[in-house]
Amino acid sequence: MSRQQVVIVGGGVIGLLTAFNLASEVDQVILVDRSGVGQEASWAGGGIVSPLYPWRYSPAVTALAHWSQDFYPQLAERLFAQTGVDPEVHTTGLYWLDLDDEQQALEWAAREARPLSAVDISAVHDAVPVLGEGYKRAVYMANVANVRNPRLVKSLKAALLALPNVTVHEQCAVTGFVRAGDRVLGVSTSSGDILGDQVVLAAGAWSGELLKTLGLELPVEPVKGQMILYKCASDFLPSMVLAKGRYAIPRRDGHILVGSTLEHEGFDKTPTDVALESLKASAVELLPALADAQVVGHWAGLRPGSPEGIPYIGPVQGFEGLWLNCGHYRNGLVLAPASCQLLADLLVGRKPVIDAAPYAPGGRVAGLL
Ligand SMILES: Cc1cc2nc3c(=O)[nH]c(=O)nc-3n(C[C@H](O)[C@H](O)[C@H](O)COP(=O)(O)OP(=O)(O)OC[C@H]3O[C@@H](n4cnc5c(N)ncnc54)[C@H](O)[C@@H]3O)c2cc1C
Repeated sequence: MSRQQVVIVGGGVIGLLTAFNLASEVDQVILVDRSGVGQEASWAGGGIVSPLYPWRYSPAVTALAHWSQDFYPQLAERLFAQTGVDPEVHTTGLYWLDLDDEQQALEWAAREARPLSAVDISAVHDAVPVLGEGYKRAVYMANVANVRNPRLVKSLKAALLALPNVTVHEQCAVTGFVRAGDRVLGVSTSSGDILGDQVVLAAGAWSGELLKTLGLELPVEPVKGQMILYKCASDFLPSMVLAKGRYAIPRRDGHILVGSTLEHEGFDKTPTDVALESLKASAVELLPALADAQVVGHWAGLRPGSPEGIPYIGPVQGFEGLWLNCGHYRNGLVLAPASCQLLADLLVGRKPVIDAAPYAPGGRVAGLL
């Protein structure tokens, strides 16, 4: 155990899991969130434990995704056993319908040894009788899961609160960094300064705003996403389905999430009627029986958008003691386990679980060498 105190800014899935990993590695962990932990993107997301179109991403995103996908079941089991809150990893498989780039998808899967295969559309209707008509082609990956992300963050919070060396400060906004020369000594907050040997910035879509206080330009920007929720019988939808960028995700208890929009509206996260109608239309096209079902929830969240969706994970050169773990864009839930393991490995000076180079902030943050 390293005799260090680590301050983590932001209690989304990235900050929470970073804290959870570091708690067994360092003396003290202090997690600070402006509101309650786990109430922003990490609550609002769909929880598919895969990028939406994994073959369209760079090897950097793929490496994090694959490590995380393999790790998710054991993470969920451990959290459930420790807290009694089940993150509900639900392995349903995922059907992609009428892809334009099906061949690329299949080639990628062969290269990456992932179990993706083309399926006859009549077999899809047999497996998912509620699927709408008119689709012509499908590919299927059986081992794709979804995680009930609001439960995941609740479980992580409960696990942290039970640890004697972790302190969680909620309703405590970080306004800047405490510095001495090129060393970062902590953070300034609405309730005073909090000092630490290391500071990890995991403030999701707000990370760029905080780095501006150091004169750094981090290209992480909010990308609004809206989602709607139905409640059906628990066997209504046996698999996730995805067409034209819109998807339906079944939870174990029959809740069906349909998402999502991609909007550049700054930090505004007001749900809109236009998106509601558009999402309902997609829902009914995918699953016509939803025309008779009630929308029981509609919300928006802000993804931490970054170039190519490649997160920033690692030390910030020239600002000793400052680390980033942010910019996970559309994939923060799936990428969280590998990202937070990598950050912990780097921070304690252990050989990282995967090559850290693609995520290093140096050279990717304007104002840094
Ligand atoms: C509609 C939608 C669907 C999605 N679907 C999926 C999916 O299916 N699969 C997937 O992998 N990903 C999905 N995502 C993306 C995923 O939700 C995000 O990438 C992920 O949650 C980012 O986690 P985070 O911890 O970085 O950010 P957040 O969860 O946003 O957490 C950031 C935290 O920082 C805190 N904070 C901000 N500023 C300050 C400050 N100044 N001081 C203190 N605290 C501060 C906030 O209060 C917040 O709690 C989706 C996102 C949306 C919106």
